[in-house]
Amino acid sequence: MNRHVRSRTTVYAAGALALLAAATGCTSDGGSGAASAALVPASGSPVGGSPTTAAPSRSAVPSPTASPTGGGPAAGDAAAWAKWHLTPLPPAPPAPADKPVKLARTGPVPVFSEVKTSDKVVFVTIDDGAEKDPKFVEMLTDLKVPVSMFLTRDIVKDDYGYFKRLQALGNHIHNHTVDHAQMSKVPPEKQKSEICDAQAALTQQYATPPLLFRPPYGDGAGTPALNTAVQQCGPRAVVLWRESMQIHDMQYQAADKKLRAGDIVLAHFRGPKDLKGETMTQMFGELLARIQEQGFAVARLEDYIEAPAA
Ligand SMILES: [Zn+2]
Repeated sequence: MNRHVRSRTTVYAAGALALLAAATGCTSDGGSGAASAALVPASGSPVGGSPTTAAPSRSAVPSPTASPTGGGPAAGDAAAWAKWHLTPLPPAPPAPADKPVKLARTGPVPVFSEVKTSDKVVFVTIDDGAEKDPKFVEMLTDLKVPVSMFLTRDIVKDDYGYFKRLQALGNHIHNHTVDHAQMSKVPPEKQKSEICDAQAALTQQYATPPLLFRPPYGDGAGTPALNTAVQQCGPRAVVLWRESMQIHDMQYQAADKKLRAGDIVLAHFRGPKDLKGETMTQMFGELLARIQEQGFAVARLEDYIEAPAA
């Protein structure tokens, strides 16, 4: 609908999106990465670069005080959310029959950081895979919030099984390189091996080839070299993001610091070492609270994407 039409484009042409090297929280230095995070749209100056990410209005999301006995609360019910000290999100609408994103089997892959939809939904993606907190599996089991995982092979290979538990909840696994290389700093052959070797390992472990690729830091996303490497390795789109979760709040690219329908949100598998003492579930609870405050549901990204015909 028109009220949802925005000037932002969904697919960025090569070079249209300049990312600073430190633009994401993909580093291991936790929230401090926020200070330098800035994404520069083709049309304007850096936005969302405030070094202050803490929101005074944030609510504390303590750890659950008790584990349920005899099974978790029913999916999506108020008790499940109350267990995690959260207000329930609105339910996501049914998956659209006509997918807003249609991927081709061959040819250049699109690069996008949002999905065109009038549904009041956002999509949550979680990167890297360093923190493997069993409580987070419990949380997603309780809350049934869909996430898409972009995993780095060498960060997850010591415990592929952890992510199988999240996959078993219906969540999809995508490609985030072998060892988190900054793609624009390595030659094309290395870009290819970073993507193809991760694709092979993730396909073997998770029994399905990753459909999507995300370059570490978003770096090189618009370059022909990266696009060619992605095409050679199997993923059919490069997925970036509009918001990046820090510890208590999101860093927004939009100047008004508000979510918009179809936005893709970046978070990371991180623990207390990288979150100034907070846990993965505390961080994720804060993320859900920020989404809930703005009235959005979380939908499954893959429900809005039509994979290529086999
Ligand atoms: Zn990363």
